[in-house]
Amino acid sequence: MVPASARNARPAAMGPMSSVAILIVSAGRGERFGGGLPKQYRLLAGQPVLRRTIQALSGIANGLIHVVVNPDHLENYNTATAGLELPEPVLGGATRQESVRYGLESLTAMSPDFVLIHDAARPLISHALIARILSALEGGASAAIPMVAVADTLRRQAADGSWSLVPRDGVWRAQTPQGFHFAEILNAHRQFKAVPVTDDMALAEAASLTITRVDGEESNMKITTQDDLVIAERLLAGGFEFRTGSGFDVHRFKEGDHVWLCGVRIAHSHALEGHSDADAGLHALTDAILGAIGAGDIGQHFPPTDDRWRNASSDRFLAHAMSLLRAAGGQFVHGDVTLICERPKIGPHREAMRTRMAEILGVSIGRISVKATTTEGLGFTGRREGLAAESLVTVKMPI
Ligand code: MG
Repeated sequence: MVPASARNARPAAMGPMSSVAILIVSAGRGERFGGGLPKQYRLLAGQPVLRRTIQALSGIANGLIHVVVNPDHLENYNTATAGLELPEPVLGGATRQESVRYGLESLTAMSPDFVLIHDAARPLISHALIARILSALEGGASAAIPMVAVADTLRRQAADGSWSLVPRDGVWRAQTPQGFHFAEILNAHRQFKAVPVTDDMALAEAASLTITRVDGEESNMKITTQDDLVIAERLLAGGFEFRTGSGFDVHRFKEGDHVWLCGVRIAHSHALEGHSDADAGLHALTDAILGAIGAGDIGQHFPPTDDRWRNASSDRFLAHAMSLLRAAGGQFVHGDVTLICERPKIGPHREAMRTRMAEILGVSIGRISVKATTTEGLGFTGRREGLAAESLVTVKMPI
């Protein structure tokens, strides 16, 4: 039995933990976004940008999150943060600089060792980046600023229209969160409140604090335009989304001694009537793939009026749909085919069908399913006038 006091004690090796406050600046009006709802309240993959930012920062170094909001947007703020446990928001000022200062002033009673000042419009902030900033501060840095290199060539246009090259050497893009010792940055904000700046690093410089650069992240992008929202959604989704397509097909029985179903030749008392080999299973699966990628239907790609497809083996239809899927950058995740008929019996051929379809698609057999059912003697399949097939396909597509 371990005494309660020993269980609660922090391991000696860790040393005392510094206290951290996180200030999220969400007071902007988002004018560059084109009016209307400010960007921090827009939906990013179904969630307000600000909510995603708060959630990305929660659980960091036991840091308490404080949000500075525009007094005009309190209703938006309440909707965006519903259900989250947060202290009352701090009301912002006329400029970002003023809003940050109000936020810092609100933390004076708590007086944390460090403060991370972050823009609400950077929802893709990672814990790894935060760890680098905190580690720099713990290591003695006064101001730890994430920065990324500039890859593009920079050019400046003069008033007369002429262009000049801006040397890229030593040029960095500063991101947030910017990490500071609380007392130092609060003093800088108080001392230089009349000097207009666009970020807190500028005040740290004005106060002659030493700036330490930490590696920023390209994914820690600032959402400023509609295009940024699209890029951020791609990053959040890992760049992919899942889509589903369905297919359905019917063929009538005629005289004959075999049918083709799901790419397998099956001896039977009848054959199936059709322009091609009448393989309803492959036709339904082909249509399901075409449906998932929005590429029309099988009749559009292989018109029954075209003599090239007379008696054609349907595996080429399926292979064509698969090539369209691949050309669109997609992956075949899963396909399910249901055959609806009284006869022939499907069970004995199920594995051969799965094997053949997996072969045509170039996927593993585990990604293909074949099921069979009857309609209990009802309807055209019950009367054995024909058979039907339906299919569902799931694909993974780049967004
Ligand atoms: Mg057909």
